[in-house]
Amino acid sequence: LDQVDALSVKSFPLCMRQLHRALRDNHHLRHGGRMQYGLFLKGIGLTLEQALEFWKKEFIRGKVDADKFDKGYAYSIRHSYGKEGKRTDYTPYSCMKIIMSNPPSQGDYHGCPFRHSDPELLKQKLQSYKIPPSGITQIMELVKGMHYQLACQKYFELTHYVDDIGFSLNHPNQYFTESQRLLN
Ligand code: SF4
Repeated sequence: LDQVDALSVKSFPLCMRQLHRALRDNHHLRHGGRMQYGLFLKGIGLTLEQALEFWKKEFIRGKVDADKFDKGYAYSIRHSYGKEGKRTDYTPYSCMKIIMSNPPSQGDYHGCPFRHSDPELLKQKLQSYKIPPSGITQIMELVKGMHYQLACQKYFELTHYVDDIGFSLNHPNQYFTESQRLLN
């Protein structure tokens, strides 16, 4: 978990950083969040065993005890790894899917913050992440023009100190891989 904390700040796109923070703060995520974040983690290389441990560790800090976790949540994690039910091996969601489908409701943390957050709250969040004011203005302009993935790309450039990432961003896992490539 500590390792994921550090990675989430350095190399996660905003959508996944938000989900990780919510999970750590609330010791819980609702279904939409568990799916979006769980499949992303699978995509960055978490094995099924690691995923079960990761979710359990955090959930049992909240209202869910170990027994309830094993009965209620472990199944759907195994399911998303293709180990239950129809045995479909689910793949992580693309930006398009996150932006276009299943919008978050009250109490949800999934979705794309560039698309689904209230602009004022998004602005505050970017300020708290120490994005310079000129960068925030550029991001908010892109959001206003509904260029959510370009806004995310700009956020990547500003947080990795590069002028032009040289690819078009279309997947949270691509964001992570490119970030790790630049940082390591
Ligand atoms: Fe996540 Fe994609 Fe939105 Fe970026 S554009 S925050 S990677 S969904």
